[in-house]
Amino acid sequence: MDAQTFEGLKSIISEEQIVTNQEALYDATVDRYKKYAKVKNALHVPSPASIVYPYSTEEVKSILAFCNENNINVISRSGKTGTEGGLENWKEKSIVVDGSKMNNIVKLDPYNMQATVQTGVVLQDLEDELRKLGYTTGHSPQSKPVAQMGGLVATRSIGQFSTLYGAIEDMVVGLECVFPDGQISKIKNVPRRSGGPDIRHIAIGNEGTLCYITEVTVKIFKFYPENNTFYGYLVDDMDSGLQMLREVIVNGFRPSVARLYSEEDARQHFSHFYKGKCVLIFMVEGPEGIVKATNEAIEQSVDKFRSSVVEKVDSSYIEEWFNNLNWGQDRIDKEIQDMIENDTHDGYTTEVSADWENIIKIYNNVMHRVKNEFDRVEDLTMLGGHSSHSYINGTNMYFVYNYTINCAPEEELQTYHHPIHEIIIEETLKLGGSMCHHHGIGKYRSEWTKEEHGSAYYMLEKLKEAFDPKGIMSHGTIFPKKEEIEKYIRD
Ligand SMILES: Cc1cc2nc3c(=O)[nH]c(=O)nc-3n(C[C@H](O)[C@H](O)[C@H](O)COP(=O)(O)OP(=O)(O)OC[C@H]3O[C@@H](n4cnc5c(N)ncnc54)[C@H](O)[C@@H]3O)c2cc1C
Repeated sequence: MDAQTFEGLKSIISEEQIVTNQEALYDATVDRYKKYAKVKNALHVPSPASIVYPYSTEEVKSILAFCNENNINVISRSGKTGTEGGLENWKEKSIVVDGSKMNNIVKLDPYNMQATVQTGVVLQDLEDELRKLGYTTGHSPQSKPVAQMGGLVATRSIGQFSTLYGAIEDMVVGLECVFPDGQISKIKNVPRRSGGPDIRHIAIGNEGTLCYITEVTVKIFKFYPENNTFYGYLVDDMDSGLQMLREVIVNGFRPSVARLYSEEDARQHFSHFYKGKCVLIFMVEGPEGIVKATNEAIEQSVDKFRSSVVEKVDSSYIEEWFNNLNWGQDRIDKEIQDMIENDTHDGYTTEVSADWENIIKIYNNVMHRVKNEFDRVEDLTMLGGHSSHSYINGTNMYFVYNYTINCAPEEELQTYHHPIHEIIIEETLKLGGSMCHHHGIGKYRSEWTKEEHGSAYYMLEKLKEAFDPKGIMSHGTIFPKKEEIEKYIRD
């Protein structure tokens, strides 16, 4: 880092809050999107100049204002579990602002059913504190043990119980954020209001491109683990499985978990019982009467499609699978170790959404095109998908693909990931779906941001111009940058 920037930062925060060691900077250069190239030392993007750790909103304010004045790119960071290149650096003059030291639970308020936390609170820590009191956040992404509240809000994350509790945007009641000019804005916590457009949504999902989220207030819910029920079915195909999901949802029932795995995806999760079939899963929780009614609705809905149901699965299998679903840091580290030892990439994903009518068409079109057009199809060790979040008007499809890598590490993405990713995005946009259901746009879907939003891109662009006129917030994330897309993605 140049001396002037270092001195400038030192006038705001103490020296021990500024990290410049090479190992940490290398780690901060990219996120999980480029994890293979990273472990193989094959990165060709610049490292940030430093990582700074503010302790307060006031410090965030001064850091952002300093960067704004001096044209320093800011990459906002929380738990580092982001998957779409949002943490990747494309600028020579750049710093990472890491909120993980702002990790106080400010207030648990069971009477008003809300909790206020600083940006760096790990979701699992908040959940653990709430469980002691008999409550839950209702938010359970697989990354819950590591992801932090600021990042979870900034990416519009969603958890496994979304059908019942909603996604993060349904949970956030208010928040505090800081803009690059140093403005601190606090959105108050009210049950609802009609005070103009809902400005929470300027911060929710901004992926560090408009503002830095410093504090969040979320709803909390009563927790009734004693009533939980688990259902699993083997079904003939994705089409009938999706119809069963739809039947439950459109009739007004809200199981906390409602999922359908394709045969291939089921093989990697349920090899001991899937028998080459698709796996349909429901989990129900909440007050006793609601659970009972939802259980009955699930059984009736599945019965309506009984000719496609191969068999009911022992519920203990589903419960056991569910209890081991989340990823802690140890599992993330093991995955990295596996990549060092084996040239394979397991678990690349592209998650999209569409209405009920089109989701099955997208699924079938993608399967067909990848199998027929992808020229490294022989290296694919798995291609499948699951629907994991359903709504009254449609559902998501989480495509998953694993492959053996038979090329140089720096060519992995262009050779394998991008061609498949592109087919999924093309097929989804063609049928009116969204190319990103919950991981955000990051940098690697930014070339399609305009197509995703169509004429509404105007509104998004104006927000960027208004809140970040100098463009210092996460250069290349969400908002497409042609030159870097050609240099770092297409090249
Ligand atoms: C094993 C695994 C499982 C996952 N499962 C799920 C899942 O079930 N559901 C789901 O939705 N996602 C999931 N993800 C993706 C990821 O966990 C989410 O995107 C999560 O919300 C990122 O939070 P984080 O704290 O790690 O943020 P980071 O990775 O640190 O940052 C993510 C993005 O948010 C921006 N950002 C971070 N902090 C701030 C801030 N304070 N202010 C403004 N911008 C900020 C960053 O610049 C970046 O663009 C999973 C990831 C992994 C590795």
